[in-house]
Amino acid sequence: MLQTILPCAKCGSTALRKNGSSKGKAKYVCTACRHQAVFVPAAPRKAAQYAQVEKLLLERVSQRAIVRLTGVARMTVAKLAKKSANPSA
Ligand SMILES: [Zn+2]
Repeated sequence: MLQTILPCAKCGSTALRKNGSSKGKAKYVCTACRHQAVFVPAAPRKAAQYAQVEKLLLERVSQRAIVRLTGVARMTVAKLAKKSANPSA
């Protein structure tokens, strides 16, 4: 069974069901409001978020402030901070 935590863009319901595909991407339909959309993977959204985190780290913003601003988990912020402090590692 399909398990997804992606909420419906229209009504916010998580009751999504697979509904065919478009250009190789799975299409989903919300069983609550019948809204249809192509599933957008989290990766590009996260990449943009992580870029923002790295920018804020460069500005010496505290990790907890970055968590508040971006919604990225603190351990992820800590991981990125480590990476930006020592890019070769
Ligand atoms: Zn919906």
